[in-house]
Order: sequence, then structure tokens, then C-alpha cells
Amino acid sequence: MDWKPIRKSPELQAVRPHLLDYEKTCAGFSWEAVRSELSGLPEGKGLNIAHEAVDRQAAGPLRDRLAFRWLGKDGAVQDFTFCDLKEQSSRFANVLKRLGVEKGERVFVLAGRIPPLYIAALGCLKNISVFCPLFSAFGPDPIRQRLSRGDARLLVTTERQYAKKIAGIRESLPQLRHVLLTDIDDDLDETVLSLPRLMAEASADFTIPPTDPEDMAVLHFTSGTTGMPKGAVLVHDAVLTHLVTGRYVMDFHSADIFWCTADPGWVTGSSYGIIAPLLHGITSIIDEADFDAERWYRILEEQRVTVWYTAPTAIRMLMRAAIEPLKRFDLSPLRLIHSVGEPLNPEAVVWGERVLGLPIHDNWWQTETGGIMIANYAAMEIRPGSMGRPLPGIEAAIVRRVDDSVDVLTEPDVEGDLALRPGWPSMFRAYLHDEERYRKCFVSGWYITGDLAKRDADGYYWFVGRGDDIIKTSGHMVGPFEVESALMEHPAVAEAGVIGKPEPIIGEIVKAFVCLKPGFEPTDKLRLELIGFGRTRLGSAVAPKEMEFVDSLPRTRSGKIMRRLLKARELGLPEGDTSTLETG
Ligand code: ATP
Ligand code: MG
Repeated sequence: MDWKPIRKSPELQAVRPHLLDYEKTCAGFSWEAVRSELSGLPEGKGLNIAHEAVDRQAAGPLRDRLAFRWLGKDGAVQDFTFCDLKEQSSRFANVLKRLGVEKGERVFVLAGRIPPLYIAALGCLKNISVFCPLFSAFGPDPIRQRLSRGDARLLVTTERQYAKKIAGIRESLPQLRHVLLTDIDDDLDETVLSLPRLMAEASADFTIPPTDPEDMAVLHFTSGTTGMPKGAVLVHDAVLTHLVTGRYVMDFHSADIFWCTADPGWVTGSSYGIIAPLLHGITSIIDEADFDAERWYRILEEQRVTVWYTAPTAIRMLMRAAIEPLKRFDLSPLRLIHSVGEPLNPEAVVWGERVLGLPIHDNWWQTETGGIMIANYAAMEIRPGSMGRPLPGIEAAIVRRVDDSVDVLTEPDVEGDLALRPGWPSMFRAYLHDEERYRKCFVSGWYITGDLAKRDADGYYWFVGRGDDIIKTSGHMVGPFEVESALMEHPAVAEAGVIGKPEPIIGEIVKAFVCLKPGFEPTDKLRLELIGFGRTRLGSAVAPKEMEFVDSLPRTRSGKIMRRLLKARELGLPEGDTSTLETG
């Protein structure tokens, strides 16, 4: 099917003028001008994310505005104004100071989406210690690996997590001097302390020390979709990217109520679940519970969410849930839906328009980029299946490696490596303890992202696949995304994962793993029908030759299909690092 661009009505564009003239906005853009919009620390003492996101707001007219509304699993609700966040994060910063945690030292948080996680993140940034979030569902082994690789100095967690996962590995982590438990009143011993007690004893005043924009702020491990997760280091200067993307992509306006569904255990949950909305002085919703279609629609309705940031995996689950939201829920305040993390199938973009009343805006970035780099902007024509265009201040290109350098491909619609020109503020400054790997990402003045893409004649970028997932069949390069999207156009298909399976004559054959929608039976007849459907859509060179029905696809905790695992299982090879595999 040829997907038509989704144009925005002139009225809609008039209220959201950002980037209406893309070329002009880009030409007039400079990071220095953005920098001058931020106040910086008093007396020219540098740039600190927590100052810009919280203290600056609390010192002005937004002081009593709702910053976070937290929705507990069990129905509890907790509200935090900017002033509350300022005081609590200052208390946490004072706790760190009292325990001797210094600038640059790593503070890990292992917890679900509970308020202390957010307070610790901000307090940590104030103390210029490094915030390192971990998924709460990690088991002891991935936790130990990350604490050890990140030289964890302090850990914030819950009593239950501590007993189950940390107590047993504590001895192997000599650098970990303190563990603070969020839910005990009395210390367990001299190093396992009660966070509520320490917070109560701490002062609510804290003066942020001078912060160099290059000071390390956040350490995030990548999702581990393609192998062992890497520890990407982001610095305080990243806040410039959060400001710009909040404006141009998210289109934040002062009355917005924003909901980013990502867990801070991965980078979307910290850049957009914590920093960007605070920086723009708007209200964010935090939901402690896991995905549930009914609950999510109810939150959108009851909290009157206006801007929503979620992921393809969640959208596909909503598509599968077969609820007609507009008949049952009032979603009228919602004006923008964004998606990130995986390619967003054109089917899903159009489903959004039909079923939610709004198309879904795809955007692309990575842990390494610290913020959104390529996007379908609020005001721009959406091309379903495309990631959109680069942000102002971001120079992207399609390149091809030639020995030790790269050729920039200027022809449109040619596949190659997606590359970015280094120098944007939220660019990662290191893979912690892996200088060699970091260095290898940069070739001839470009950062090579590891993703393959193409650019059309109008400058829209189209995701082809991860370098590691590309299938080589009969001399063709096949991106799994194209095949998966085509299969998803069949009414029986809920989702699909596609791999290359080695074959002596043609190199690899395309194999698809398919999950069916409720009400469809995995029969041989349907399998043949789907193979035929693929052939009609894609042509026989690209269409899957083999197809297997599965109940679910292996995915990372951040919701990405792990094709390398499908492949390893298919070929009976070792599974490699599975620490981020979603289980249960
Ligand atoms: P690892 O690097 O450990 O294998 P990962 O790359 O999945 O894991 P992240 O940094 O969380 O870790 O994810 C970034 C990657 O996600 C991108 O490089 C890209 O492959 C994919 N991605 C993110 N957004 C999009 C999008 N809008 N379209 C297509 N792919 C996307
Ligand atoms: Mg990656």
C-alpha cells in the first residue's frame, strides 16, 4: 500500500507555528542562542540540569505549579509542585553530601517508577554526582554487572529489591559504600540506611556547586538489543537539547499535561520522563503500573493528557486490544502523540488517526544521542513510516564506509549508514571504561549510529534496519522493518519479527515470526496465505520464504524486538547477553 502523507490543517498549523518553515528555522538556529535562553547557575557558575529544570522554576512564577502527578499502582495519587521538587531534591543532595558522595561519583537507583527515583535523579544532578537508573525488573546478575562496570558508590532501592537482589552480591561490590532503602524507618546496619530518616534530617536548602557543562550528569546503559549493553555518558550541557526538542518536537506549551510512558531505566524515561517537561515548566504524569490498555486510556482521559510520548510496542498492544477508545473515553484534550524506540509501522501511524483521532509522530534517537535527533514535528506533514527530518542544529547524513573513511551519499533514496555530525550538546561523551569502542563510532568527522537508513528527495529519513539486523539475500539488502510492516498490513497479523537465515546458495533467506491477532488460528492455510500476501506486497526477492507462528516475540525491557535472539534460537546458537530480555 502506498501511504499518503498526512497533512495538517491550516488551523492546526496556525496554533503550532514551530518549524512551519523548516529551512528558515534551521538556517537561523544556533546552539549559542539557545544557551543564552537558560539562566545558568547564579553568578555565572555554570550550567546544571537540575537548576534549569527545577530550582529556576521554583524561584519564579511556576513555583506552585504541578510538576509531577504520580499515579500509584494501587490507586494512590501524589502531587509535586516545582517548589516541592526543589525542596526534596535539595534534601537528597544534602544526604549525598553528608555521606561523602562526591562530584562525578555514580549514584544508582534500582526501583520502579516511584517518587524517590525522581527525587534522587534531581538531587544527584544537584550534587553533580552521576545518576544511573536501572530497570527494576533486572535480576542480580545484570545488576551486579552494571553496578560494577559503573563503579557504583551509592545505591537507592527498596527493601524488597535489596533483600532479593543486592544483599547476596554486596560483597562483590567493594566500591558500593552505601545503600539507601526508600521504605524502611530504621537503618539495617551502618551502610544500609533509611532514606526517609536521612531525608527528614537533611536541610531543604542546597546550593548547587559550580557545574561545568561538560561535567558528567547521567550514565545510561543502552537497551542491549544488539549485544552487551554499553554505558553511555551524558553531560550537563545535554539540557540544551532537551530544551530544543521539547519546543520543536514535543511542542510543549505552558498549559500542557504531558505523559511519557517510558521507564527512566532507559534514556527516554530520563530525558523526556524527567528533564524536558520540567525544563519547560509543564505538568507530567508518572504512572507506576505496567501497560494495561484500559488503564492507559483511562489515564489519558482522567488526567486530561495533551501530549503523549510512547513506543511502538505499546501502540501495537493497543492495536491488538481492540478497544474503541473514542467511543468509551473522552480523549479530546489530547493533541499530539509521539513514538520512539523502534520503527513505527505506517499501519500504526494511520491506526492512530483512525482510532485515536490523531496520527502518531515518529521520532528517532538513541541512548548515545541523549535526545531526539530526527522527528516528524508537530506542525509538519507526517510521512507514515518515516522518522521525519533532523532537528535544527543537527546535521545528519547517509554515508557509506570506505576503508577508514566515509563517503557522504547525496543522492536521494540510497541506503547507507545513518550518521550525525558530532557536536550537539547531548551527544554521549564516552562509553564508560570502553574508550576503544567509543572511538570506533567516529569516522572521518561523523558519528556512525549503527542504523541503516535512506533520505528521500525532500529530506525525510526512512529507517531501514539496524546494521546488525540487515539481511543479505540473493544480492539484495533487506531491512526487516520493511518486511514486518508489509506483513502487518494483513488483517490477521498483530506483529512480526523478521530475520535472515543462512542458506548456502542465496546467502540468507528471509524468515518471519508472526503473532496473530485474537480470533485468528495459526493454520497452514493462513501461513500460505501470508507468504503469498508478502510476495504480492514485496516481490519474491524480499518476501519471507519461511514463516512461523509464535505467541510472542522476544523483546527488551524497553520494548524492542530482539531479532538477534530470534536468530540465535533459530540457528541453535548461544543467546549472548540476555540481561535486558523481558521475561514473564
Ligand atoms: P544496543 O545499542 O545495546 O543494542 P539499542 O540500540 O536498542 O541497544 P537504545 O539506545 O535504547 O539501545 O535504542 C536506540 C536504537 O533504537 C536506535 O539506534 C534504533 O535502532 C532504534 N530506534 C529508536 N527510535 C527509532 C525509530 N523512531 N525508528 C527506528 N528505530 C528506532
Ligand atoms: Mg544501540
